[in-house]
Amino acid sequence: MKIAVVGVQGDVEEHVIATKAAMKKLGIDGEVVATRKSGVVSKCDGVIIPGGESTTISRLIFRDSIASEILEIAREGKPVMGTCAGLILLSKYGDEQVEKTDTKLLKLLDVRVKRNAFGRQRESFQVPLHFKGIGEIEAVFIRAPAITEAGKDVEVLATFEDYIVAARQDNILGLAFHPELTNDTRVHEYFLRMYSI
Ligand code: GLN
Repeated sequence: MKIAVVGVQGDVEEHVIATKAAMKKLGIDGEVVATRKSGVVSKCDGVIIPGGESTTISRLIFRDSIASEILEIAREGKPVMGTCAGLILLSKYGDEQVEKTDTKLLKLLDVRVKRNAFGRQRESFQVPLHFKGIGEIEAVFIRAPAITEAGKDVEVLATFEDYIVAARQDNILGLAFHPELTNDTRVHEYFLRMYSI
């Protein structure tokens, strides 16, 4: 199994480390590659879009063929996970902030996302969440977005306050928080298991 982490910007290395640790836990003899070039994602069995700045990541992946390669492997049913800014990019619809900045979205997850949903006062925080299929996890939010609406084919995996903060539509997984920033690898394991389901 070979997993790509989109490496144009953001917390790339943390995802590489977490994915490798999750592979080890599951006994998968796999490889994880961070990439900022075209031609890598299309050869992988899954892809992770990390957190960072959604406007920047969007500009860079649509400038190269990385965006179309993500869409291609998503169409093939391979797992795609976006965390924080990555969730914004996976979404079908954005809020005014996303529209104002002309951020191009991959539109793989039938949700509307709100950028910086938790406001300035609560830029970053950690809370326990119930994640469907996993159980209790500690979730780290950093200037996080949140899902305000979800289509009927979207499975809600976790909520916080009035928002959906983890959701799945078939092989597409979007999280408002950062599972790569704790030592718990269960969310990455969940993502890897989506490959065989
Ligand atoms: N606030 C960032 C954005 O809107 C996302 C923050 C993050 O990925 N940690 O792009």
